[in-house]
Amino acid sequence: VPRRADPTAVRRANLGVVLGHIAASGPISRARVASDTGLNKSTVSSLVAELAGLRLVREDVDRRVASIGRPATPVMVTGTTVAVGLEVGVDGLTVCLEDLTGALRYAVRKDCDLRDSEPYSTLRQLATLAGDALSYARAHGLRVVGLGVGLPGIVDASRGQLLRAPNLGWQEVDVARELGRLLPLGTLSIAVENEANLAALAELWVGGAQGLKGFIHVTGEVGVGSGIVIDGQLFRGSRGYAGELGHVAVRQDGAACACGSRGCLETVVGIEAIRERAGMPPRPGTGQLAIAIELAQQAAAGDPCTVAALEEAAEALGIALSSAINLIDLEVVFLGGFLTPLAPWLARPVREALARRVLSSAWSTFDVKVSALGAHAAARGAAAVILRVILERPWLVEEMALTDGGGPPRRRQPSATPSGTP
Ligand SMILES: [Zn+2]
Repeated sequence: VPRRADPTAVRRANLGVVLGHIAASGPISRARVASDTGLNKSTVSSLVAELAGLRLVREDVDRRVASIGRPATPVMVTGTTVAVGLEVGVDGLTVCLEDLTGALRYAVRKDCDLRDSEPYSTLRQLATLAGDALSYARAHGLRVVGLGVGLPGIVDASRGQLLRAPNLGWQEVDVARELGRLLPLGTLSIAVENEANLAALAELWVGGAQGLKGFIHVTGEVGVGSGIVIDGQLFRGSRGYAGELGHVAVRQDGAACACGSRGCLETVVGIEAIRERAGMPPRPGTGQLAIAIELAQQAAAGDPCTVAALEEAAEALGIALSSAINLIDLEVVFLGGFLTPLAPWLARPVREALARRVLSSAWSTFDVKVSALGAHAAARGAAAVILRVILERPWLVEEMALTDGGGPPRRRQPSATPSGTP
């Protein structure tokens, strides 16, 4: 029996192509969408009308341009569809709202020391922050389509579960289910992902890695994590646990690590390790970013202990990153989180270590860049994971959106699968 074309599937796929193109290019005429995508003009017009009906695009009347015949009014993505991005960091909780245009609409960070914290009371605090963001969205006429959560540990994204976060002291916590119980989420889906993976995705989608094929995003967040992008897709490994750069061994008999092993990169490059080597007394209750800024000031003032601690950190980072690049051939290293203020002391020696240690270095270049996304990177990535689902499958928007007219919750399980991942 010959296979028949499925017109609904074709139309849906094209709906995603058109929305994705409008999102990527900014205000654009229907004729240009047609010529760029290869779809014919009347198909594009009808798809744009459907996207407008879903309130995902609108005409940009300010930019109407004269053309032959009727004036062409460009279309653009609306900023009214948002996702909630949440992050549980070891030193604080972050919540944000990001809209479909990639703009940050709301961001709140609460500093608190969550080392060895109780998971369920922490998730209650997170739910309170998320509830405030949902209220803000409702008050500002924003349509919420989902909620993403970044966690500092290994995560089973398909089940919305945190398996282990050594620095929090958490093990096997059903994060998606617990948040679903605490929040009036209705039809909203929850995506749970490792925070370093989310920071890498944020860098890819809205940061300095747009258009890059292969890079590693190293996030300093008390510990050290990384997200790896290969061929423009997040590399999650066979079971989703890839990117644990912080637990790559750089010392055969080094210091004990929170994970139970010894000599991990984190024992040299973690914020507490650098602080201690720099001779700075402990700063209980001070966030890692504030400590890093203080260390940067000490190094800038020429304090020899701090400079030596940063040299040691750079050397260890160079060893771990050159091993990663020898294995998987990446073009750019991004330094994010608390590594950002320390980058003036880290970037050059890491670049030199890569030139020295990577076999292909004579024929390839490696750039070491500083992430521009700052402290909200993982939370923004968490929101973006949800928004990417809408960009690829726009017809889901009404089904996914929060219906705030009361009624019994009819939340779907399991969580949304992060897009852009195999
Ligand atoms: Zn470790």
